Amino acid sequence: MSKYVPKLSELKKEFDEKPSVLKGDYSTREWWNIPVEFRDGNWCFPGKPEVLEDLGFANPRKWAATDDDWQLPAGWQKTISDGLQSRLKKYRSLKLFLDSCVRCGACADKCHFFLGTGDPKNMPVVRAELLRSVYRHDFPLVEKILKGFSGSRKLTEAVIKEWHMYFHQCTECRRCSVFCPFGIDTAEITMMVRELLNLVGVNNNWILAPVSNCNRTGNHLGIEPHTFVQNIMSLAEDVEDLTGVNVEPTFNRKGAEVLFITPSGDVFGDPGVYTMMGYLLLFKHIGLDYTISTYASEGGNFGMFTSNDMMKKLNAKMYHEARRLGVKWILGGECGHMWRVVHQYMNTMNGPADFLEVPVSPITGTRFTNAAATKMVHIAEFTADLIYHNKLKLDPKRNDHLRTTFHDSCNVARGMGMFEEPRYVLKKVCNSFHEMPEDTIREKTFCCGSGSGLNAEENMENRMRGGFPRANAVKQVKERHKVDSLVTICAIDRASLPPLMKYWNPGVSVYGLHELVGNALVMQGETKRTTDLRENTMAGFENGGDDEE
Ligand code: SF4
Ligand code: SF4
Repeated sequence: MSKYVPKLSELKKEFDEKPSVLKGDYSTREWWNIPVEFRDGNWCFPGKPEVLEDLGFANPRKWAATDDDWQLPAGWQKTISDGLQSRLKKYRSLKLFLDSCVRCGACADKCHFFLGTGDPKNMPVVRAELLRSVYRHDFPLVEKILKGFSGSRKLTEAVIKEWHMYFHQCTECRRCSVFCPFGIDTAEITMMVRELLNLVGVNNNWILAPVSNCNRTGNHLGIEPHTFVQNIMSLAEDVEDLTGVNVEPTFNRKGAEVLFITPSGDVFGDPGVYTMMGYLLLFKHIGLDYTISTYASEGGNFGMFTSNDMMKKLNAKMYHEARRLGVKWILGGECGHMWRVVHQYMNTMNGPADFLEVPVSPITGTRFTNAAATKMVHIAEFTADLIYHNKLKLDPKRNDHLRTTFHDSCNVARGMGMFEEPRYVLKKVCNSFHEMPEDTIREKTFCCGSGSGLNAEENMENRMRGGFPRANAVKQVKERHKVDSLVTICAIDRASLPPLMKYWNPGVSVYGLHELVGNALVMQGETKRTTDLRENTMAGFENGGDDEE
């Protein structure tokens, strides 16, 4: 395991012995008197100077969160203050969220980082207060009305350090907003503070390096078009070796009906590549007229974790490619924040995409009116529709070696309300499925603990703490139902959940939904299947499927 995470026994000892508000202990200090402590495992390395220069971002320099002097630029207080004021004018929601909290505390124990750390500043209400206290100071009338009722404070370097710490201990998951009677979305406050921090060069390289790469080559990893093609073709060869089926993907093909865009993690990362193999098998199975762009080669959008302008810019390339290639609509792969961007922001940022058509499945004729604005259909709803109309030949017994549960990815669940479609697909392609406890799934799902660009190795202790509530729910189904497979529809989850499971629940593996679809698909002309897409033996298929029927 990573050197940036304590042994499990040490965390347990800390929980048993250290006073914590989680156990009903009271803090002896007010939150604004508790100093910030950066230490190994609880912060991400800052953006490298060359990355900031590449993006034209402010204050490129070498620094670390553990430094005393963060080398903030001259006039940084004014930069932040002006930045806040302009955003308050531009985004009514920000002002509303800052003004309307009544400190009811309903959100206090709903954040996975609070549950994993016991740190009061990880209560969503206090997290927002880190900004609100400065906002009050900057706006005397608000301060005049509220002074004595609640604090205000000056913007100091200590406040900047606190913002950096706690707005990078928020994964923008929005779980707290589900429980807030006013619908206050702390994730949006986090997004604004991160935007302000970027104005003075306080940032995170794990976010900015992918942003820079995506800006330059179209994907987070900075992979150039020919390598992108080579990787997918090599996955296609793996599919052929395993199944005997040539899946024949095409690239940058003008006039294709559908443009398929997925996170680059599905093309390059383990276990995402098996999900990609599943997509390729599915598209071949139904004879979909689709193409993959080597320029819009990324579904993910780390601009969302950086600034609204960057989010808009990175989102736009998908639509530029759709226009250039002359497709009718876009089919999107398994990703979390890509869908939050598309579903919640695309239409006002880059829409309306009137040059595309309202998506219609060429196989079932279903018109996806829910995608009438974005012209972009989620692969889980596309596949659910195919199954519902009996268009797929599936053998769920091919997944009998797996006992599954489903992790709702925050951005797909809370960001677009997609709860049932992935479950419907999963239950049709596999026979063993067990839900985690009700208060940890669907709109109340717990984050993986590493979303919103916090998936850095050096941030591992935070990630393991933040992921604890999710891991704890998996533990329940592991113990009760012998679940060994955690299925998800998010590329960040596919990267972040394996170490989380290794730490808290050894023996549980992580799968993309369409990997299991790919396992279950009975392809025309296939060779006898004995293994799944990971080359693990399928139970009951040791001698090939036909022998077993
Ligand atoms: S958005 Fe998620 S991570 Fe952020 S404060 Fe709310 S519950 Fe915590
Ligand atoms: S639930 Fe809403 S109103 Fe209540 S403390 Fe939290 S953010 Fe404020």
